[in-house]
This record gives sequence, structure tokens and C-alpha cells, in this order.
Amino acid sequence: MQHKLAAGNWKMNGKLQSLDMIESLGKAVGTPGCEVALCPPAHLLIPAIDRAAGGPVAVGAQNCHSASNGAFTGDIAADMLRDVGARFVIVGHSERRAAYGETDADVQAKAVAAQNAGLVPILCLGETLEQRETGQALPVIRSQLQNALPAASKGETLVIAYEPIWAIGTGKIPTMEEIAEVHSALRGDLVTHLGAAGTDVRILYGGSVKAGNAADIFAIDHVNGALVGGASLTTEDFAPIVNALSDT
Ligand code: PEP
Repeated sequence: MQHKLAAGNWKMNGKLQSLDMIESLGKAVGTPGCEVALCPPAHLLIPAIDRAAGGPVAVGAQNCHSASNGAFTGDIAADMLRDVGARFVIVGHSERRAAYGETDADVQAKAVAAQNAGLVPILCLGETLEQRETGQALPVIRSQLQNALPAASKGETLVIAYEPIWAIGTGKIPTMEEIAEVHSALRGDLVTHLGAAGTDVRILYGGSVKAGNAADIFAIDHVNGALVGGASLTTEDFAPIVNALSDT
């Protein structure tokens, strides 16, 4: 099994001064028993990578284009992100699926491009509240996985993030049993689709992870870390989550 991963998604937050957090987080987590990554907005990637050099914090991007270059104003190719030293890229976040109409096929193309460039895609899946309440959560999530999964994935070249849409930024989380059910189903499907490699793909939980609930979530089978939004913006909030993961 790969090292567990705590990844922070800053979304559209952060200015140059916000990067002071890279040093303070590095000090607060010491040499963590897990991987730690921050995914700031694109304008901060290069200074973030410079400031993270030699420390425990890796840097990832929040999106990439599936093409390697071309007339795509405003977009960034996976290969360009890798060129400046990014290690991860988030693909298929529900905010991008909702705001930009990204389909599973788009997400798969981005994930494949990321892998081909040497980046590790953090591929997000998750159900709406209505789908959860009508018993559709598992079929929806499994279908997203099947349709967006890069077929050539190896254990270390893919990370999945289960993020119930209704839990993102709301302070609500599923029950521990509901998280366990989804992660166990995803593990089974990863093994079905990828063979033995599927046992090593990390499956993160995301959606209102905080210091107060992290240890309980990390104790669930097949939860191999977290994708954290709001609580990744400060060392005070993120370090206890990283340390809870290191302790599992
Ligand atoms: C996210 O946006 O990926 C996320 C998990 O956000 P939050 O932790 O704020 O719910």
C-alpha cells in the first residue's frame, strides 16, 4: 500500500503571502508518516513549489487540460504543470463538473493526460444530496469511477477522492458506515478494473474534514487519507488533520 495522503484544495483562495503556510505546516508536521500536499490556485504554483523544495509538503494543481498544447486560452496542460514541479492535479472536482459541465469522459481524458505527464491525478467522485436520499449514491459513484477511470492506472499513479457534494463546505458529513460502504465498494471496483494495482490506489475521503472528525474518518477501512478544502487554508486547521493521518 502507498503512503497515505492528506491533500489541501485551496480552490480560488490565496495570495503570495498565503504561501508562508508552507514553512509553518512543514514545521508543525515534522516528518509525517504520510504524504502532504497543497493545491493552490495556478498563479501560486511556481512560488509554492520553490518554497516547498526540500520540505515535506508537495504541491499540486487544481485542474489541467487534456491536450498537451494548443489554442485553449486560459488553460494549462498537464505537461506544463509537471514541467514546473507539480506532483498532483485534482481532476473532476464537483465544482468543476457543476460550473463547467465537465463529464466523466472529460475527467478521464484529463486524468490520462496527467498520468502521461508524470502527475498523479486526484480523481474526484461523489453524489448529490438527492442521490444520497433516494438510494442512488453507490450506483452513481460506481458509474463515475467506471467511466472516468484511466485504464492503465497503477497503484502509485492514481488517487481517488470520494467527495459527497452535499458535504463539501457545509460542515455535514456522511455517517461512518456510509463512508465505509462507499470506500469498500470503490476498493472492490478498483480491483475489478485494475487487478492487483487496484489494492494500492489511494482512496481519500473529502467533504468537511476537520481536526475534530479526522481521526474517526481515518480509522475507516479503505480510507487512505483526505482531500481537504476549507480546513487546508491555515496551518492551525490543517496540521492536526495531517497529524491524525500520520498517527493511523
Ligand atoms: C473540497 O472542496 O474538495 C472539500 C473537501 O472542501 P471542504 O473540506 O471545505 O468541505
